Order: sequence, then C-alpha cells, then structure tokens
Amino acid sequence: MHVLLIEDDPAITAGIVDALTGAAHRVSHVGTGGAGLRAVRDEAPDLVVLDLGLPDIDGTDVCRRIRADSSVPIIVISARSEEIDRVLALEMGADDFLVKPFGIRELIARIRAVTRRTLSDGQEAPSTERHLGPLTIDLRGQRITVNDTPVHLTAIEYQLLVYLSQEPGAVRPRSDILREVWKTEWFGATKTLDAHVAALRKKLGSPAWIESVRAVGFRFEIPA
Ligand code: CA
Repeated sequence: MHVLLIEDDPAITAGIVDALTGAAHRVSHVGTGGAGLRAVRDEAPDLVVLDLGLPDIDGTDVCRRIRADSSVPIIVISARSEEIDRVLALEMGADDFLVKPFGIRELIARIRAVTRRTLSDGQEAPSTERHLGPLTIDLRGQRITVNDTPVHLTAIEYQLLVYLSQEPGAVRPRSDILREVWKTEWFGATKTLDAHVAALRKKLGSPAWIESVRAVGFRFEIPA
C-alpha cells in the first residue's frame, strides 16, 4: 500500500518511514502542506498520514482541501491533544486521529483498521436502500441524502451511520460500536466515537438523529 506522509519533523518522519517500510508499505514523504496537496493529486496514495502542525498551511486546512476532491483515508497525527483539534480534524474529514507521541504499532493498527473499513465498503454493500424518514442510505452507492439533498460523509462516519441505523430505536452500547465499526477493543477510542457522533449529527442537520444514552451508548431515532 502506498502511504503519503505529510510531516515536517525529521525525527518523527524517520521513525514512521522506517516502521511503515518495515510493515511492507511504500512510503512517500513531503514536509509541507503545499507539497502534500500536490502529492495527493499527482501520486494518488492509498492513505495519507497528516501532521497538523506544518510550516506553511495549517493541517486542518490541508485535511479539508484533500477531502474536497478525494476520499483517500486520512490519519491525522498531532502533538496538540486538545479535544477541539480532534473534533476539528474529524469534522474536516479525517478518518482517525493520533496524539504524539504514539507507538508505531498503534499507527500501524490504525492504518489497518482504516483501510479495512474502506476496503470492505464495496464488498459488503448489498443492493438496497434504507429509508428512514427524510434520510435515505444507498448501501450500494454509499450515498446519503436528507430530504433529497446529498450529505457527504467520511468513510468512518458512513460506517457508523450504517451500523447505528440498522435498527432505529435500539440502544447500541459504546463497546459494541467500537468493536463493530472501529474493529477495536481499545476503550480509549471512546472520545473519537463522541467526536464522530458530533460530526454526524451536524451533517445530518439535527442532533435528534442520534440520541446519547447516558453511561451506555447511542440510540438512532428518526426525528419527529
Ligand atoms: Ca509538525
């Protein structure tokens, strides 16, 4: 798999390039956001690992600009652990977020999880549509509309919505969601889940679609 790394720190770059090459990925590297945007266009990588703190363009802007015309999976890495950065990155279309310093095994596990999600999309999609009030999920084309207006979701937001909406009204425990959508037992991912739910509610146009069930998880509901 071809991974594009957009990162300006030489030490972090060296560590990631070594590790990913060792895990049989092909890695190309650029040190600025501008070069990153060109590389996404010219090299069509299979996955992007994106640092938020870049010398020329803020990483969240780079993320948004990549997402504007590409569905390539993006894993954001950042030294800024603030929740706002995490939420912002996910809203800008990132598929996952890792706070520096992170273990290289964690990065490789996330790459595997993100690509498994995106690869399985096409294989598992049955040729059906799910109609849920004003929301339509085209499982074959992986298109979402609300009141016939297209809604653009990231790969993970799409998987999350498909999972939650299987059975409107049913409570889905956090641990089930993490296992089924994120393919992880790692409970630290729960803040990531909250951020994705927040992004999904916003994109669907109403928080009423996904109700928080205190201390348990979430319930998908068709708003009245
Ligand atoms: Ca940096």
